[in-house]
Amino acid sequence: MAIDRNTSLVVLSGGQDSTTCLYWAIDRFGLELVRTITFDYGQRHRIELECAQRVAAFAGVENVILPIDTFTALGGDALTDPGIDVEQGVVESSGLPNTFVPGRNLVFLTFAAAYAWQRGIAHLVTGVAQTDYSGYPDCREGTITALQHTLRLGMESDITIHTPLMHLSKKETVELARDLGALPAMAHTHTCYNGKRPPCGECPACELRAKGFDEAGVEDPLLVA
Ligand SMILES: [Zn+2]
Repeated sequence: MAIDRNTSLVVLSGGQDSTTCLYWAIDRFGLELVRTITFDYGQRHRIELECAQRVAAFAGVENVILPIDTFTALGGDALTDPGIDVEQGVVESSGLPNTFVPGRNLVFLTFAAAYAWQRGIAHLVTGVAQTDYSGYPDCREGTITALQHTLRLGMESDITIHTPLMHLSKKETVELARDLGALPAMAHTHTCYNGKRPPCGECPACELRAKGFDEAGVEDPLLVA
């Protein structure tokens, strides 16, 4: 069966933000026009993949896992290299956290666009945001706008990259998740940089997540579960 052009492909990591984006896409495009793609990029915490599958199943959408483990061979960051611990603050030489995986979002969105191109899908949805976050340069609006332009040129396509969280604070992202009915799915998500379940509560990712839920006055379903 041919795929409807108005189908959207959500880049689903199994975390809070991409899960919120999934429910944003369901709200905007309709459940039957939403699919999800998850990248196995050699992340240390394999639980992320499991969570992505669980979230997709919970929401009732298709999920495909694409293996691209070249980042492990590159090494040098705390999310793919088991020899590097997650640290608070930034690395002096780069001014970025040591959880920054250079090129990750660029590669994800390029592969997602290629996957979409092959199937005639016109919309990508990603949970990147430039507010309140870890300062990853590949999450900024300018990067995504430029990448969309490059993908349109390079693939002769009219693909659109949607970034519903781009200008939201963590608090506003939690409020959006609540308004979209995404909170029950949050119990299946994973955020902790230390790969702990229940979450460690101490790493930068856990702290940021807790801050968002606190400020929004919403109980995190993951902690309740
Ligand atoms: Zn943690």
